[in-house]
Amino acid sequence: MGQIAVLDQNMVNMIAAGEVIERPASVVKELVENSIDAGATKITVTIEDGGRKLMSITDNGCGMDADDLARAFESHTTSKIKASSDLLGISTLGFRGEALASIASIAQIRAVSRTKDSTCANCIEIDCGSKGIVSPCSADYGTTIQIRDIFYKLPARRKFLKTANTEMGHITEQFTRIALANENLDLTLIRNGKELYRLSDKDDLRRRITKLFPMSSSDISENLIEAESSEKGLHVHTLMGKPLISRTNNRFQYVFLNGRFIRDKFISHAIKEAYRGLLEPGRFPVVFLFIRMRFEDYDVNVHPTKIEVRFYNANLVHSQILGALREKLLGTNLEMPGKLPEMQHAGSTSRSSPPARDHRIADAMAEFFRKHRPVQMQQQLGFHPSSPGKVHAVSREKSAQYDRIYLQIHDSFIVAQTEDGFVIIDQHALHERIIYEDLCRRIRKNKLQSQRLLIPESFEVTVSAAEALKANAELTDKLGIELVPFGPRTMAVQAFPTLLSSVQPLDFIQDLIDLLDRKDAGLDAERLLDEVLNMAACKAAIKAGQKLTDSEIEQLLADRQQTESASRCPHGRPTTIKFSISELEKQFKRT
Ligand code: ADP
Ligand code: MG
Repeated sequence: MGQIAVLDQNMVNMIAAGEVIERPASVVKELVENSIDAGATKITVTIEDGGRKLMSITDNGCGMDADDLARAFESHTTSKIKASSDLLGISTLGFRGEALASIASIAQIRAVSRTKDSTCANCIEIDCGSKGIVSPCSADYGTTIQIRDIFYKLPARRKFLKTANTEMGHITEQFTRIALANENLDLTLIRNGKELYRLSDKDDLRRRITKLFPMSSSDISENLIEAESSEKGLHVHTLMGKPLISRTNNRFQYVFLNGRFIRDKFISHAIKEAYRGLLEPGRFPVVFLFIRMRFEDYDVNVHPTKIEVRFYNANLVHSQILGALREKLLGTNLEMPGKLPEMQHAGSTSRSSPPARDHRIADAMAEFFRKHRPVQMQQQLGFHPSSPGKVHAVSREKSAQYDRIYLQIHDSFIVAQTEDGFVIIDQHALHERIIYEDLCRRIRKNKLQSQRLLIPESFEVTVSAAEALKANAELTDKLGIELVPFGPRTMAVQAFPTLLSSVQPLDFIQDLIDLLDRKDAGLDAERLLDEVLNMAACKAAIKAGQKLTDSEIEQLLADRQQTESASRCPHGRPTTIKFSISELEKQFKRT
């Protein structure tokens, strides 16, 4: 007898659910998308216990009659496509006819629906695939679908659910995507009986962004630049974050194609390229990008969750997005003009540093050597700190043996004489290394010393941010950061590490939250701490473009002697480039 059997329908649905329904948030996504496809203008999402206990979605869309209500939960049933030709230009969010059947196979469902022309509503209950009969009931126009006890017959899947707050974070993320993509939808999210977000159809995009992203340090929407372009049937509208609100990960890049949230490597690349030279390595821009194009120009039938699409002309998409973003960015005063390219560190291979800058450095160096060639003049120069131009040379008998002569060029690099030549030091990179090592040493021994803020600084937190901070209380404590709850969605910093006194506490905490959020992506405790210390060092370090006093330079050079791996910044870039006198002599054809 053969071994192969046809699977029963509920098994098929459960397998499909494995692809489409990863967690409670996937249910919310599928159901809200159905409501949008049904023409709803008002949708309310109610969640209890992170979606484990209850997820309920109510809409005022077209509703279903009794027959459709019974059919909607069978597999491969849809009203959105009929013939294979329909697959060539899908204009609805759903089309696979799988979501309701999948959800019905893994939870308890109660669905109530009423069409506009019907005098009463109908209701159906389904328990993990076993379906009750449709019966009349009373309800308003539209549809309500309630999902209870997700995965209750699949203990293995239920076990993989994270805490209620984490699951709620994922639900909020799905809600956010839908709220951004549908400006004229009235949307409400309720958690455990309390209203979390309420977006009216009158809230435009900027207002929605402000409500959805309560950033700690500044109002995000004030730092967004708007651009629009339309060419060859492709319409691009974007709100781009200025470099100063960049983040440590790319989670703040929201890309929508005809109202559908997508992830696409061509588009991510275009965004990255548009910001080239405007951000430090490891920073990601905040971008909200809305693309409109003909449904026939791409395929959404690529991935079960429809988060990926296939563009028929990916080059056009890439070049137009890059062009629109880049042009606008370069044409905008980004508040730190001229300073941004200076963030490039010495030894960086980036092509973005303009050749003019290399010339400026070369000129300054030439001037330095012209002035310093006669050894007898050194002493004299030391007493003329305001010598012409920007060049500023000092010699101190008392200074460390190797660093007797130095100058700061372009407020970014320090050129210092050594015993057998000279070094060029990237002031930011070196200082970053020094602070990083200091932090590592201290934290190995004890927690960082902190100081109380005179006035605690409060900030709003999202559910997932609060959860991330709570889960990492030990880490924040070790860092000497004291946080206290200050209201339902507000927290306050009460104490902050003394060593980071030059850093804005809220700015630091925002980036810390971003980092902690990434922890789910597999950073172990040690790597995480290292990343946090890296970030702290980078923020506390003197910047490129910052004029230093003689004593600050001397301190830096002295600390350099004490630092173990002084030649590399914590990110692995060089802090120092060395030149030997013999090399110079060769170059000047003296030998
Ligand atoms: P799909 O969305 O891919 O068509 P679903 O399983 O999500 O498949 O839904 C099946 C069908 O049920 C839909 O095609 C639609 O006709 C109907 N339906 C689902 N949700 C709603 C709703 N909220 N209002 C009206 N009709 C709905
Ligand atoms: Mg659907």
